[in-house]
This record gives sequence, C-alpha cells and structure tokens, in this order.
Amino acid sequence: MQLTRPRTLPGLMMDAPLLIGTLIDHAAAWHGDVEIVTQQIGADPHRYGYRDARKRSAQLAHALHEKLGIVEGDRVATFAWNTYRHFEAYFGVSGIGAVLHTINPRLFAHQIEYIVNHAGDRYVMVDPHLVPLLEPHAPSFPDVEGYIILADEEHMPQTSLRNAICYETLIADMPADIAWPELDERAASSLCYTSGTTGNPKGVMYSHRSTVLHALCGAADLSVGENALATLLAIVPMFHANAWGLPYLAPLVGSKLVFPDPHLDPARLYAIMESERVTTSCGVPTIWFNLLAYMKKNDLRFSTMKAIAIGGSAAPPALIETLERDFGVAALHAWGMTETSPSCTTGLPKPQHATTIEERIVRKTTQGRVKYGVGVSIRDDDGNALPFDGVAQGDLFVRGPWVASGYYEDDEATAAAVTADGWFRTGDIASIDSDGYVVIRDRSKDVIKSGGEWISSIDLENVAIAHPAVAEAAAIGVPHPTWAERPVLVIVPKDGTNPSKTEIVDFLTGKVAKWWLPDDVLFVRELPHTATGKVSKKTLREQHAAGKLV
Ligand code: AMP
Repeated sequence: MQLTRPRTLPGLMMDAPLLIGTLIDHAAAWHGDVEIVTQQIGADPHRYGYRDARKRSAQLAHALHEKLGIVEGDRVATFAWNTYRHFEAYFGVSGIGAVLHTINPRLFAHQIEYIVNHAGDRYVMVDPHLVPLLEPHAPSFPDVEGYIILADEEHMPQTSLRNAICYETLIADMPADIAWPELDERAASSLCYTSGTTGNPKGVMYSHRSTVLHALCGAADLSVGENALATLLAIVPMFHANAWGLPYLAPLVGSKLVFPDPHLDPARLYAIMESERVTTSCGVPTIWFNLLAYMKKNDLRFSTMKAIAIGGSAAPPALIETLERDFGVAALHAWGMTETSPSCTTGLPKPQHATTIEERIVRKTTQGRVKYGVGVSIRDDDGNALPFDGVAQGDLFVRGPWVASGYYEDDEATAAAVTADGWFRTGDIASIDSDGYVVIRDRSKDVIKSGGEWISSIDLENVAIAHPAVAEAAAIGVPHPTWAERPVLVIVPKDGTNPSKTEIVDFLTGKVAKWWLPDDVLFVRELPHTATGKVSKKTLREQHAAGKLV
C-alpha cells in the first residue's frame, strides 16, 4: 500500500523557528515585572524583572559581537554559579547564535583543561568568587582570548587572568534592545560536557529547537496543581544540563525565578523557600533528604511549596512518601541525563493510578512515565528488543528531538553511544510497563551480578534508606570466589545514631529476596560524590578494594 504522496501536501501554517531568544522576548513582553531573584552571600538578594533581564541580555549580545567579535557558532564559556548574570548569558550568548558552554567548576583540573580546549572557547565568563579556582588553569588555555568577570568595577578581583574584562563595564554603553537574528532552529545553542567514570568528558551540543521543545514539555509536567509554576527555585546548577532546562522554562511560562547562593545548607534553603514564597523546585535526592530532616527536627512546614521534582539519581520511596504524606507536596520523580536535555519521563501517575496515596507512592517511586516526544527501547545483550511488561529488564535506549545524536567532535564516544539505527544508549538498565512507567534498575556499570543474576543496587538502597538511623546508603558489588560478585551496603548513619550490621540486615530481611541480602554492611561518615552530586560507586569500589572502608 502506498501511503505517502509523491509530493508532500504542505500545511498552511506560518513557519517560525523555535529559538531561545523568543523565550526571553515573551517573558519581557508579558511577564516583564515578574522577578528573578539571586541570593548573595553577605548582601541583600539581587532582584529585577524579565524586562530588565532582556535588556541586559541584549546589551551583552551587542557587546559580545561588537566589542569582542563573537559570531555565530563561536563558543563562549561560563564558569559560574546560578545568578542573574549567568541567566543573561543564557540568552545574550545563544540569542546571537554563539554557543554557551557551561563549565562545572567542581570537575577535576585535568577535565576542565580538556573541555575548554576541546570546546575551543574564545572567552570564559567567570564569577568573581571562582576566579582563584580558574587562575591556575589559565596557562593551559592558549586559545582563550579573555575572561569576562561577572562583576561591577567595585567588585573586580585582583587577578592574574589575561585580558580580564569587567562584565558591567563591557555591557554598560550598549543598546538595550535587539532584534535577535533569525537563526536556523537546528543550530547549536549550548554545550555541556558530561564526565563519565572513564575517558575524557564528552560534549553534548544542544540546539535551539531541542531546548525550546524540552522547555515546552517540561512546562506541561510542572503545571500540576494550581500555580505550581508561580515561583521556581533553581537549585540544580546552571552547569548541570542547563539547570534541567529551568532557565528556559521559567520565561516560557512567566514563573518568578529564584537562584539560591551556592551554599545549599538546609536552613538557608528553607528560609529562601519561605521568604520568596517558592512553589516549585528541582534537585537531586540528597538535597531533599537534608532539607526534610532539618524541617522535621525543627518542626517546620512549607507555606507555599506545591511540587518538587527529583532526579539525577533514584528517589527512594521513603523520600516520596515523606514529601507527599507529611509535607503535602507533590513529588515528581523524573529520569534523564545530560545527553537527553535532560528530561525524558514525567513523574505524574495516570489518574487511575493515583486514587489512594499508597498507590500514588508506588507509581511515583518509578522513574516516571515516558514523555511525549521520547522513544524508548530496552534490549538484551544481543540487541533484541524486550517487551514492555514491567518485568523484562535490559539496556535502555532512547531517541527524540531533545536526545543527543552524538558527542561534539568525538567520533569514538559517538560510535559507542549511538546505534546505526539512531538510538542513544543511556548506560542504564531499565524495565518499562505497558503504561509507560520506567523503572531504572541500575547504571550498567554499577549493576551487581551475583551467580549470574542481577541485584538492583537501587532497590537495596531504597529499602535501606527507610531505616530510621540511615542518612545515606550505597550498594556496591564486590568480587566473590563463588558468586562472582556479592552486594555490600555502605551506610552513613544519621547524626546521633549508631546502627549495627545485624540491625540493618534484619530490617532488610523480608523486604528483598534472601539472596540479595548484603554480605557486609559498612558504616562511614560520608560517601564519595561526583561533580554533579551523585554517589561515586567507582570510588566506593576502589576504596573497598583498598580496604579503606572498614
Ligand atoms: P547526568 O548526565 O550527570 O545527569 O547523569 C545521568 C544519569 O543519572 C542517568 O543515566 C542515570 O544513571 C542517573 N539518573 C538520573 N535520574 C535518575 C533517576 N530518577 N533514577 C535513577 N537514576 C537516575
């Protein structure tokens, strides 16, 4: 049967490209007074509205082009926390077709040196507080032409950085309006390197189109409940997958946007949430664990918070239950990765799965349902597609308009990640059911294989964390002569508690299969974390092998 015509019949709709500049234009036009608030250490928060943010983004765009000669396709890096000036760079840089490269200041020195050179950054925009951290690397950046310090003249630090330019002076005399150029929506807009446990970091190059589509779908998800998007607290850093798209989503819906200072201690976060009347926020599970423990200890409640999105690593049921049951906040557990912009799932259960709180918590503990626009496939070791029956588990592959089609100038990493038929290998092991709920069983590198059978480290951790004396838990596989590998649980006890191994094993008994019970339970004061706040299982395995965990 011939279903396609020899010539496509065109739809009669206007063709307007999906460009990042349109997001800030919209916010400035229709939400001009809605605030963007930046918390500052030792000073009052900085406040202004989208109208001013657009003006200053326009000034930056003019300055970059007219004073520094930045043109379409040039890379301009940021080495900065979440602030209004960083936000202006999101639009001022990408709006003129240049590429915003957000660098994670927590990466190792050799990784930072690799990515600045690999990206070919022409300028680096740097927070004054981070100047001392960047200075030692600068001699390794022969091609960087200058450093734009995100400060006014009064706060310019003494620096050895070559050609250090004051941001405020740079933009001060520039026109406050701009007609963004009509770029190709498929053009590169921003660049974020993801650091694996092996090899060099890999560059994920987002496009205008992928960014706007991702923001549109994210807005639909977060609009749960009345006004959940009124005030958004962007805890996730702007160098981690574009702060999960929040700086694009907020202007799209007109949300007030709050940037916390980088010291994310629970008391301060809570105070910001209350004083700014925050209605929604996003972050990794550790942030929420610490915040809720602080709130419980001090008998505090949220007055305005409606929904909290959790991702980056698995959110245990205990966390979701506490949020929903004890604090009355909708917990939205979502899965994604830098390479997928990041959001691929929606944490909202179907209405028929949310009639009781118990049912809702079970569904919300999954990594959410497959989102519109994202294709998923789970495959066995031979590449055969597995059924979506909620039981079969295999390597998770994804595709879609905000999924990377390859890494920036890295053929080897691209070949390892992207299949010939256009699917992206996530490196996660998942099962998916017929309603589209995705359950991430493990990172393929962290999976524990005992006697040929998989033990989900995430499931073990999820059960352990529900113990009242456990603050954080990580399960790793350690070599075993008979079973190849056996699980070992590493636990950070809560302050003032002293749980024993037997107590933990007894607690797990009956909640997981008998052969999943860990061979050992070790107690440590803290777990090693990666630059994006995840537990580094690789480091834990190394510490265990070197006998450093006992
Ligand atoms: P990154 O690119 O640094 O954000 O890391 C992406 C990886 O984080 C994914 O491939 C997963 O292994 C993990 N991850 C993200 N969200 C979740 C989640 N909700 N549950 C379990 N793992 C997650």
